[in-house]
Amino acid sequence: MRFASLGSGSQGNGLVVEAGSTRILVDCGFSTDETERRLARLGLAPDDLAGIFVTHEHGDHGDGALPFARRHGVRAWMTHGTARALAADASDATIIDSHTPFAIGDLEVQPFPVPHDAREPVQLVVSDGAARLGVLTDVGTPTRHIAAMLSGCAALVLECNYDSDMLAAGPYPAWLKARIGGPLGHLANEAAAEILAAIDRSRLQHVIAAHLSQTNNLPRLATAALSGVLGCARDEIAVADQANGFGWRSL
Ligand SMILES: [Zn+2]
Ligand SMILES: [Zn+2]
Repeated sequence: MRFASLGSGSQGNGLVVEAGSTRILVDCGFSTDETERRLARLGLAPDDLAGIFVTHEHGDHGDGALPFARRHGVRAWMTHGTARALAADASDATIIDSHTPFAIGDLEVQPFPVPHDAREPVQLVVSDGAARLGVLTDVGTPTRHIAAMLSGCAALVLECNYDSDMLAAGPYPAWLKARIGGPLGHLANEAAAEILAAIDRSRLQHVIAAHLSQTNNLPRLATAALSGVLGCARDEIAVADQANGFGWRSL
């Protein structure tokens, strides 16, 4: 299995996961043209994708999904709540249950519900039967269920949205600070570290800090928080950025 990012942050997200001859895109927050350009950077064409898994309807995850799926005739998977919010119909989307694993070709996808201010948001673990990749962004509160789902993963793409001091002192209006920092908002660096500390890390090979705020965080603060838990050097933690995401990682 291998995976790579098209870009990560509040301006758009997309993560490609591949096993055998199956490739899926997790979220699509870019225009169709931009998604095609970013796929090409990874050596992929739209036809290489089996479909798109949409975690929730927020624009940086869902805006590009149905336009891309319709242009290229690929399938989309999402919860009922996400489908309602995106006005997807049965010809667009396969509705998934937020607790029930399902297969897409050679990949098994295990969704799980998360606290976030969307209709029915989920995050996911993707497996090829041998290794597991955990994806967790757009989460307001660490939960025991999240920790159970991410335990034993070989790779984690983990939201480090903001540094609490930078958010508090930053330029956002009070209501937006409250939303981001609230129980249905986003993960602070220390909350991401708390999740990392709570899980079984015995198989962990790759940790990538993702969905960093360009206003309320710095890569060095995110990597310091996560490397502190792992007891590794800061530069062993990768950072997914908005412009370039990150290149292929193999498990
Ligand atoms: Zn987001
Ligand atoms: Zn969101």
